Amino acid sequence: MIATTDETIFRGIPMDFSLVSGAVASITAAKEIGKAALGLRDFNQMAAQISEMNARLLDAQESLFAHNTQLLALQQQHFETTQKLAEVEKALAEKGRYTLFEIVPGSFAYRADGGPSATHGGNPVTAEPEHYICQPCFDGPDRRKVTLRLHPTSKHIVGWWHCPVCKTDIRLPGEAPPINARR
Ligand SMILES: [Zn+2]
Repeated sequence: MIATTDETIFRGIPMDFSLVSGAVASITAAKEIGKAALGLRDFNQMAAQISEMNARLLDAQESLFAHNTQLLALQQQHFETTQKLAEVEKALAEKGRYTLFEIVPGSFAYRADGGPSATHGGNPVTAEPEHYICQPCFDGPDRRKVTLRLHPTSKHIVGWWHCPVCKTDIRLPGEAPPINARR
């Protein structure tokens, strides 16, 4: 059974199986014309039959060419979709390493999830240096992983966390810096 155009649609490109069935019909017709031509004695009649046969074969070729073009477009889409999926999976795996953390009340950042056993003073201790990731950047369309920079509290000013990309500032509560991220 051959599917119709409406039945088989792959991401916007209809798979037109009628092209293949059309090609098969054309080839069958050409074969029948050829058989009939073999029985003819008259050269003019035979030439007409051969011309008709050639026309059918050209039809078949055109249908198959159109079908090939569709197939190539589908292959390209399949390739692009596979690539996108790989990117999304990678981003998800990357995101899974971080958990949302309230740096100061009402202000959030992502923090590498070190697990409950590997903590120091309530903060995780992981193999890589302790760091915060900017939440707006990480949740944005580009999924950018931007490490927040600490402008530490000094005698004169209260410190803050700063994102060099989206310029988000998170002011520290006014006491000592919350984690030992100064380097
Ligand atoms: Zn940012």
